[in-house]
Amino acid sequence: MSTPYVIVALLAGLIVGSFLNVVAYRLPRGESLAHPGSRCPACAAPIAWFDNVPVFGWLLLHGRCRSCRASIAWRYPAIEAATGVLFALVVATQDDALRVALGLLLTSALVPITLIDLDVRRIPDAITLPASIAALVAGLLLDMGFVPEQLSAGAAAFAFFLAAALLYPRGMGMGDVKLAGMLGLYLGRAVAPAMLFALLAGVAAGLAIIARVGAAQGRKTAVPFGPFLAGGALIAFFVGDELADWYAERF
Ligand SMILES: [Zn+2]
Repeated sequence: MSTPYVIVALLAGLIVGSFLNVVAYRLPRGESLAHPGSRCPACAAPIAWFDNVPVFGWLLLHGRCRSCRASIAWRYPAIEAATGVLFALVVATQDDALRVALGLLLTSALVPITLIDLDVRRIPDAITLPASIAALVAGLLLDMGFVPEQLSAGAAAFAFFLAAALLYPRGMGMGDVKLAGMLGLYLGRAVAPAMLFALLAGVAAGLAIIARVGAAQGRKTAVPFGPFLAGGALIAFFVGDELADWYAERF
């Protein structure tokens, strides 16, 4: 799509990313997403709108609270920038309304899912459930022809991960199973390469940990799987169909 749309998507993504930081911080703590407004986590001083401008607020304050000078994690502007770049990438690379809608919704769900799973080793239903419904509504409104593929891919991914979770309960939780089902609704058949990437990266990370700390300690180190699924899903969203075609042509 043309450059003005991509710039609008980038700016919208920065603002959405700022809200996703709030979601990732407050949802696991059971706090309201709307009230109160942004506060410094250290001194609870309200953050003025001009200090809360995505990325630039953090840069202008050199990553410190204006009131107490406590440092503000670089994760916040990094997440805002990453969300902005992903939104821009979706709008720049996708050309039909359903794909754009799915890409923006998927990004908005995966950013807080990744952060919360890294922080507290949990993937909240409060994100996967509404995000799953949103994917189906987008399909129903924008391209009914995609809905059967969404449903079959969602069911297959859910069943595959449910089997994995039952066979290997320490490696995978029900949050991962529900996330896999959600990804099927977003990706259709491209959920297969997404799961493959996630499993390969997850196994590689597990082996790297075992190599560093030894097998006994390594097996006890729980690695959250959500971030791998999120990474695999984004790769699959952008290049999954090409990969599936490439694979089908050669094998
Ligand atoms: Zn402060």
